[in-house]
Amino acid sequence: MIKSINPATGDVIESFKAHSADEVDAILGAADRAQRSWRRVPVEKRVPLLTAIARALRAKKEEYARLITEEIGKPITESRGEIEKCASTCDFYAANAQTFLADERIVSNATESGVVFDPLGVVLAIMPWNYPFWQFVRFAAPALAAGNGAILKHANNVPRCALAIEAMIREAGCPDGLMRTVLIDASAVSGLIADDRIAAVTLTGSTEVGQIVAAQAGKSLKKQVLELGGSDPFIVLPDADIATAAATAVKARFVNVGQSCVNAKRFIVHDDIADAFSDAFITGIRALKVGDPMDEATQIGPMARMNLRANLHDQVTRSIAEGAVLVLGGTPIDGPGSYYAPTLLDRVTPEHTSFKEELFGPVASIIRYSSTEEAIALANNTEFGLGASVWTTDLDLARRMAREIDAGAVFINGMVASDARLPFGGIKKSGYGRELGSYGIREFTNMKTIWIG
Ligand code: NDP
Repeated sequence: MIKSINPATGDVIESFKAHSADEVDAILGAADRAQRSWRRVPVEKRVPLLTAIARALRAKKEEYARLITEEIGKPITESRGEIEKCASTCDFYAANAQTFLADERIVSNATESGVVFDPLGVVLAIMPWNYPFWQFVRFAAPALAAGNGAILKHANNVPRCALAIEAMIREAGCPDGLMRTVLIDASAVSGLIADDRIAAVTLTGSTEVGQIVAAQAGKSLKKQVLELGGSDPFIVLPDADIATAAATAVKARFVNVGQSCVNAKRFIVHDDIADAFSDAFITGIRALKVGDPMDEATQIGPMARMNLRANLHDQVTRSIAEGAVLVLGGTPIDGPGSYYAPTLLDRVTPEHTSFKEELFGPVASIIRYSSTEEAIALANNTEFGLGASVWTTDLDLARRMAREIDAGAVFINGMVASDARLPFGGIKKSGYGRELGSYGIREFTNMKTIWIG
């Protein structure tokens, strides 16, 4: 049984029977057949599906937002924002897919030559719970527009969202079987990856699972896009606007209860302004309203699962034992639900757990530095490479630093966030491949060379 549990109360909302092997086989067969027809539909006739999905998302925004909040404890105002972002991303690809997938002429010794973008087939999407609608839609909108099918294996703590996504896409007019949700245990995923009817795999999740999935997909030589963990640096230079940087730091670390791959996690702050930054950061963190995620005013709800909270607390406890200074929080909150107090650790060093590991929850770490070269070295001293942000009024220096930071994205005087128009993804153990923008839509295409003599 796959259980939907409300993390604010610990109550089981609903239980679902997992799909049997025969049911999964039928789902794959239908997806394969549907995709073979869909690939022949011209892009301009595929994109009205995205417009219909956008309309469906907006029409039931409140219902979907409540589903998200009930299953993972995301504050309701953020859940609404997630649905809006899904809708605008569908609109973006509806408007731009034709341009992104247009045939390209390339001059060679042929009479005519170039590339066309054909779909790969049915893509298996293994998705996490933290943005249960967004993580799937940001893959599926471009993938469907490019002529692929999609099988969603969602995290097993969000089965109601997974089924709602399937129903919503079907009701929007998706051809029968082209997009389906499978409710299966993670141990059954390897069988899907090996199945000939799956052409490629996309995963958003932990680095550990990324390594497992990449090995399995590699064995079958299937294309993968991996969007894994991160421990993004947020570098504050001495000339930065401290008030703005600190206010943004609160949002960058605590949005989604700190459970986002691109949350800023390591605050690398120049010695000269570290106390001033820390004071402003503390004021901002103290002002966060912790409470019922259904309450409009709540900014920090429960973490998504009890085991995630237990792991986070263990990381915090180890960091303090290693010498990090606890400034705020540092404890689970008593009572029902998997709440964790917004936490600040100061004087963190590269030897501490909160520097070395990804802390996926409401915990910020301040690391103090004295030279720009040291800040860059600290930023790069991690196995991850997803995003980074740099705060300074010296834009020439910021541009130079941006080129030296090992990450998939560097934001200057702004917090790292995904945007349908810009490519998104990481390097190192944060994964490979890109989602979104014109680059993302091509990941699950066969860039086919056409040559005419
Ligand atoms: P996981 O990486 O375990 O889960 C992500 C997805 O992978 C889920 O659908 C999960 O299914 C599936 N999965 C798990 N094990 C396997 C496997 N062996 N083969 C194939 N698929 C598998 O994330 P967790 O929820 O356990 O979170 C743990 C940590 O992962 C977090 O603390 C955070 O560090 C990181 N994470 C990163 C995210 C990101 O946005 N990059 C999102 C979520 C987590 P099932 O639920 O059934 O196990």
